[in-house]
Amino acid sequence: MATKRDYYEVLGVAKTASGEEIKKAYRKVAIKYHPDKNPDDPTSEDKFKEAAEAYEILSDNDKRARYDRFGHQGVNGGAGSPNMEDIFSQFGDIFGGGGFEGFFGGGGRGGNGRRVKKGSNLRIKLKLDLEEVANGVEKKIKVKRYVACNTCSGTGAKNGTDLKECGTCHGQGQVKRVVNTMLGQMVSSSTCPTCNGEGKIVSSKCDVCHGEGRQLQEEIIPINIPAGVAEGMQLSMNGKGNYPERGGVPGDLLIQIEEEPHEFLKRDGNNIMFDQYISFVDAALGANIEVPTIEGKVKIKVDPGTQPGKILRLRGKGIKDLNGYGRGDQLIHINVWTPKNVSNEERQLLEKLRDSHNFTPNPGKNEKGFFEKVKEYFQ
Ligand SMILES: [Zn+2]
Ligand SMILES: [Zn+2]
Repeated sequence: MATKRDYYEVLGVAKTASGEEIKKAYRKVAIKYHPDKNPDDPTSEDKFKEAAEAYEILSDNDKRARYDRFGHQGVNGGAGSPNMEDIFSQFGDIFGGGGFEGFFGGGGRGGNGRRVKKGSNLRIKLKLDLEEVANGVEKKIKVKRYVACNTCSGTGAKNGTDLKECGTCHGQGQVKRVVNTMLGQMVSSSTCPTCNGEGKIVSSKCDVCHGEGRQLQEEIIPINIPAGVAEGMQLSMNGKGNYPERGGVPGDLLIQIEEEPHEFLKRDGNNIMFDQYISFVDAALGANIEVPTIEGKVKIKVDPGTQPGKILRLRGKGIKDLNGYGRGDQLIHINVWTPKNVSNEERQLLEKLRDSHNFTPNPGKNEKGFFEKVKEYFQ
């Protein structure tokens, strides 16, 4: 995947820009790079699409928040840029009214000038355990979605002759009207009321789908989940949602991530936290202990004279960064276990040690306090 430019940079606005400022900026960029206005510049279409994509994210509060937090991965999940049809369908909101295609001299609607209908999005929740989050995973998920009816090829008509062009809009799906605006005369178009924008009329319905042009089907869809995703993030797969009634393009499949808590390990950003209790004998004499990690058990060495609160670091045993910036660590927080009950024999042994010189607390200057440790590891 090519590296993407920052969306704020694309629109030339500050990160704190208001919705209205973003809208204004997009309008400016869209007009500047509109392909019809720049027939000799092959890069203008890319810039136009880039701006549309940036606007799509930044104009939606949810998407913008995710983008601010997680960057491009948070809002795309590797999906490509929007197609021209999607971009033009946005223009209704941007340029007001029912979409002023006359603004750019028309021609922006692709092929036959009719808007391509998009099906609804499908939403699913996907539970991932910590190991899957840490390394990424390919999941095969079962979804029930509308696909084009294969008897009528998605048209909804019994046979070819039962599908007629709509007489009101002559197959355009839109009826046009010239209106006077501040910016001059423009053509305003709205959805044809006779055919509901489909451009076609079905006179005799397909028996299998009863004229809907689609049918429900169970499908297994493989999804590649990148490493480092987090609770609440949404990934999207273009075209894996529902097929619309009587033709068009399918909606998207939106996958919301849920993290399953691990029995022992806790996630903190890309790091893994683990609380380890050791006996004060092990703390005093040193020991080799086993700790769980997302890759299984690992042996670590506890040095003689280890104080409670010490934090040991297992480098690279954390979670892979979503944007490819390396991998987190596992941090092991050492707690020293004080016995709650002692037998008579144990008591006698401990009493012998009570006044022993080496058992008297004697913290030196280089003994780091709690706040120093927190500073060192969590900054
Ligand atoms: Zn059918
Ligand atoms: Zn019509």
